[in-house]
Amino acid sequence: MYRFADVIIDISLDKLDRPFSYRIPDRLLGRLEIGMRVLVPFGAGNTTKKAYIIALKENTEYDLSKVKDIQDIAKDAVTILEKQFLLAAFIRKNYGGTLNQALKVVLPAKTSVKKLLLREVVRIMERDEIISLKGEALRKHQNAKVKLLDALLEQESIPYEWITGKLGVSSQTILSLEKAGALKINSVTKYRDPVKFENAEDDRKNLSDEQRLIVDEIEKDFDNGNPGKYLIHGITGSGKTEVYMALIENVIKRGRQAIFLIPEIALTYQTLLRFYKRFGNRVSVMNSTLSPGEKYDQCMRARDGEIDIVIGPRSALFVPFKNLGMIVMDEEHETSYKSELTPKYHTFGVAKYLAKITDSALVLGSATPSLEAYYMAKNGEMRLFKLTKRLTGGELPEVFCVDMRQELNSGNKSIFSRKLKSLIEDRLEKNEQSMLFLNRRGYSGFISCRACGEVIKCPHCDVSLSEHYGGRMVCHYCGYETKKPAVCPKCGSKYIAGFKAGTEQIEQLLQKEFPGVKTLRMDADTTSTKDSYEKILSAFANEEAQILVGTQMIVKGHDFPKVTLVGVIAADMSLGSADYRASERTFQLITQAVGRAGRGQRPGNAVIQTYKPDHYAIEFAKNQDYEGFYEEEIAYREMLSYPPVAHMLAVLVMGADEAAVLKLSQSLSQRAKEYSKAENISESAMPVLGPTQAVIGRIKDLYRYVIYIKADNYDILVSVKDSLEEYLKLNPPGREYIQFDFDPINAF
Ligand code: ADP
Ligand code: ZN
Ligand code: ZN
Repeated sequence: MYRFADVIIDISLDKLDRPFSYRIPDRLLGRLEIGMRVLVPFGAGNTTKKAYIIALKENTEYDLSKVKDIQDIAKDAVTILEKQFLLAAFIRKNYGGTLNQALKVVLPAKTSVKKLLLREVVRIMERDEIISLKGEALRKHQNAKVKLLDALLEQESIPYEWITGKLGVSSQTILSLEKAGALKINSVTKYRDPVKFENAEDDRKNLSDEQRLIVDEIEKDFDNGNPGKYLIHGITGSGKTEVYMALIENVIKRGRQAIFLIPEIALTYQTLLRFYKRFGNRVSVMNSTLSPGEKYDQCMRARDGEIDIVIGPRSALFVPFKNLGMIVMDEEHETSYKSELTPKYHTFGVAKYLAKITDSALVLGSATPSLEAYYMAKNGEMRLFKLTKRLTGGELPEVFCVDMRQELNSGNKSIFSRKLKSLIEDRLEKNEQSMLFLNRRGYSGFISCRACGEVIKCPHCDVSLSEHYGGRMVCHYCGYETKKPAVCPKCGSKYIAGFKAGTEQIEQLLQKEFPGVKTLRMDADTTSTKDSYEKILSAFANEEAQILVGTQMIVKGHDFPKVTLVGVIAADMSLGSADYRASERTFQLITQAVGRAGRGQRPGNAVIQTYKPDHYAIEFAKNQDYEGFYEEEIAYREMLSYPPVAHMLAVLVMGADEAAVLKLSQSLSQRAKEYSKAENISESAMPVLGPTQAVIGRIKDLYRYVIYIKADNYDILVSVKDSLEEYLKLNPPGREYIQFDFDPINAF
């Protein structure tokens, strides 16, 4: 009989991140399980705290007179399953943070709020009446109405939030159709599926030879008891999703389940619809628009075997299937797969581990694979498949690269090149749509010359220097610092400055150049509310604007058949960022942006405006040559020991007292160096860089310093982290916080 339990207290405090022992009172004997949430008295004041049971024991080694009783089982608590525990322990070990934080990550729903009040929209008109209503709406160009009516033809009842959210149709439109007698709005208490499609017919395709090969090979491995890791490299529209669906179908036939991961922002109505058409109500969705109760329901449905597939962003990885067989990561290169909250886990790393402990296949797909994935494929750690043909017709656009230095030389000081301007004009005349993409990713005040394009770089690190107050330039990898020059060191021009144009400015400039033009803007400002992203996209799809201006958000997934021109305003902006991944990002963004044009019947054009037409990232992107880009980029990573060739651990120290932050950073850096000495690791095998002030040196009055530690072997970095944590336990910092970030994807 278990009479004692070890628990983890539910507080995010490093100091309490260890198990505490409690006695199980008689009335709870035999009722407790590992993973349950309980209430315990804690500390001198015996305040009631929530805790997770992580072990049950017959005896305890502690002084019995000091061991307290568990109070009760927490109400509405979610029990953590064994696999989730393993995942939490893995995350804790490999990415840092406390076990309690890791447990929170693996529990997609923290409480079991059931019985929600939900609204759903139900069709009450006959289909042919709906069709005639739709005809009328089409004539009046009421695009939102058309969309909703289409959806109602597809399925009889639709969650209200889905319509106003993902579908981007306003409440007014719903109300006007309610008035017209086409639908009614119901309140339902029981949660069913996030979406339910009826009368939806699967338009299954006969797989092409390239597709067939992938499906057959993976199936063979699976049946031989060797589910492996695979990377599918195929341009958008080459049939990857069709392959995923075939793969998942095979897995389900064998009584296993599948997790289909997508970057949050790419969860489109179209993708979902395709899955529902094939798998019906055995599919579910997990994303941030679901309430905690809905998330909980989806987890329970998965655990109880009611669903076979869950689609969602990285958190979908933690849906507790009984017999998982496959994990798919679509758009594998997307940075949103990395968590930016502690624990800063990499979805791929966790997925790999989950695949291992569940004997599942892991399938990655992308049009522009991350260097990490491609490197693994090249080294035989993952099998590479290619899809080379676009199956829907539509040709890749003709691409023009404009050298903005020459534009300036010819007297054009505008942000638009002459080529781009004339093409925009042409599209406006033809009533076709354009997209202007301002590449601002990684933007952190780097300094470049407008006359020759020179970007000022650190002499030691090959990353650009960032502009700081007081005319200083700083390297955020090694701390190198120098004064900002008055003229360009290369050409002597005085046009040397940080690049500052924003999307708003571009919109204004468009108005000036093309009076009366209808534009839409999509950036962090215009998409701060929950559904604004989908709303802007649907407005553009409904042709409420001729030009869509935006940041990297606009290059993702969506198909706009009427877009025949894509302009990349400052293609090399992201090249200047203080980040070793700058070229990779630039290549991915331009490749994707260019791929936006000419999806429909009409051929498209793309204009890449750059100060560095000769940069390999730009040249390879212009030619849509991934392989060429990879070879050049991996050589650079090899030369400088950057991931994926080597690994990097960033230790971020934050606190309100700058001197204390700096002192702690120095101690940690010292400790890391002592560790390598004790372990006989040479300085070149494990360089410790910094501390240096972070890119953003202070956020919300907290100063930030960072230490970078590099090593060829990831496990060395995990041990260094363990050693630093050990140090912190023995020398608890006053009021400073420490964050670990393995293979960071953003510079600090
Ligand atoms: P990706 O996921 O690579 O963008 P999709 O799977 O979405 O590609 O396929 C792109 C388009 O091609 C879709 O409209 C899909 O229905 C169609 N398609 C996919 N596979 C085939 C096939 N074997 N035969 C015909 N059309 C196909
Ligand atoms: Zn210059
Ligand atoms: Zn440097």
